[in-house]
Amino acid sequence: MTNNTKEMFGDLLLDKKIVTALTEMGFEEPSPIQRETIPIVLEGNDVIGQAQTGTGKTAAFGIPIVQNITDHRHIQALVMTPTRELAIQVAEEIGKIGQTKRIKALPVYGGQPIDRQIRSLRSGVQIVIGTPGRLLDHIRRATIKLDNIKFLVVDEADEMLDMGFVEDMEEIMKNLPAERQTLLFSATMPRPILSLTKKYMKAPKLVAIHKEVVTAPSVDQFYYETKDKVDGLCRLLDVEINGKLIIFCRTKKGVDELVIALGTRGYLAEGLHGDLSQNQRDRVMKKFRAGRVDILIATDVAARGLDIENITHVVNFDIPQDPESYVHRIGRTGRAGNKGVALTFITPREFRQLKLIEKAVNIKIIRRQLPTEANVLERQREMIVSKLQSVLDQNNYNDYLPIISSLLKDYNPEEVAAAAVKLMQEGNKALEAPAETTIAPDLGNTGAKPGMVRMFINIGRSQKITVKDIIQSIAIEADVPGKDIGMISIYDKFTFVEVPEEVAEKVLAVMHRNTIKGYKVNVEPARARD
Ligand code: AMP
Repeated sequence: MTNNTKEMFGDLLLDKKIVTALTEMGFEEPSPIQRETIPIVLEGNDVIGQAQTGTGKTAAFGIPIVQNITDHRHIQALVMTPTRELAIQVAEEIGKIGQTKRIKALPVYGGQPIDRQIRSLRSGVQIVIGTPGRLLDHIRRATIKLDNIKFLVVDEADEMLDMGFVEDMEEIMKNLPAERQTLLFSATMPRPILSLTKKYMKAPKLVAIHKEVVTAPSVDQFYYETKDKVDGLCRLLDVEINGKLIIFCRTKKGVDELVIALGTRGYLAEGLHGDLSQNQRDRVMKKFRAGRVDILIATDVAARGLDIENITHVVNFDIPQDPESYVHRIGRTGRAGNKGVALTFITPREFRQLKLIEKAVNIKIIRRQLPTEANVLERQREMIVSKLQSVLDQNNYNDYLPIISSLLKDYNPEEVAAAAVKLMQEGNKALEAPAETTIAPDLGNTGAKPGMVRMFINIGRSQKITVKDIIQSIAIEADVPGKDIGMISIYDKFTFVEVPEEVAEKVLAVMHRNTIKGYKVNVEPARARD
């Protein structure tokens, strides 16, 4: 089912272990920047890459670096990032890529106690990712040694310039072994960065993924910036999206997770990705085509080559890794003269990638605010009103009028109508009395023998209670065989009795406020003394 002309990770001459790690991460195929960068780095070249967050650039340098690193416990690669957040993200991603090779990646940044970082560095890591200031600090203390460094990565070089890190960057570059590869990523090439590349890089190869592509003009394109994409998506599903949609995720794992996340929130969705058998895929597509499910969640690979009619919305839950993929994805809606809508979610860091897509595709993707909770409620109200209006307009409800007339003797019309709407919305749930807020009894530690729960009963010797009374009432009322009842201790004003764990809740429910020997009793779990 995958397009054979596309290159897969295995074709890039990667270690099996790395391919396994990438599969575990849910990656199906290399992104364009990876396809271009990985072979060039593996051949030993320096690289200048023009790529933003969202393109897969971290793995583009992370994969070949991990491939070239040995398990010797000294630092073999240094990655400079402008911010601590990016340092952490990059370290996480490289850590995952290197997991099967047991390569350790450590982020170091200002603001975190340096002692802790020194301890981690001493434990032996092969890749260090950090902000330039903190890296220099470690280099000066000799807690980071540069002798064995084979790779330097400068990530988001132009942002580092904006943040005033150029001198620190140069100081680090000056002190690295000459025998190394340098990979520099930057969205733009301001002069100071260009001069660094001239001074410290060897015949760098340029990698950019700037192909001009054209979109279908009949697709309205919007984007939403949010940190909670699942919540945002649900709001859109409640308020705006009304039709058949495909949601695109970057990875297989992402697809599976989103199917579950939507499912638990009550939205029916089916997932499609490369791990499904042909039969499973056919079953999913049949359901989707027949309209038995309106939401299809797919990876780019799985959706390639699928021809589906009447898609009203395409949702980029994860931003596409290149403009071409954006165009491919959104081209699935707005067909056959129908108007389609494409909605793209971005996290704040992915803004640049969005702008790049806009530029390459030569279109404005309009920013929109997510519906608020009030909008969601308002929309629900509108839907109810509109349904009721259609029924009223049909004027075909006379059979029900006698029911209303009889109720009007005791209730006013608003009450009756509101109750009817509640019943319509909630079904039988509307019949349940509002749950009393009861606090579940804590049966955890009552001081009983293992497997038993000790109960406290507020009657005792003063009420002439005997062991037999207790056994009989529990046996008869709660249907627990007398032989299962454990130790009974009767005191003046109260009694303790142990019952098996499996029946403890039942005994509580039945015996509390019941009578023993004519006395109304309170029964509760005993509290163990600590
Ligand atoms: P980056 O551009 O490096 O910030 O990566 C953006 C996101 O894309 C990260 O969550 C990566 O894990 C993910 N990613 C990178 N490469 C791939 C790939 N080939 N397939 C799917 N997801 C990827």
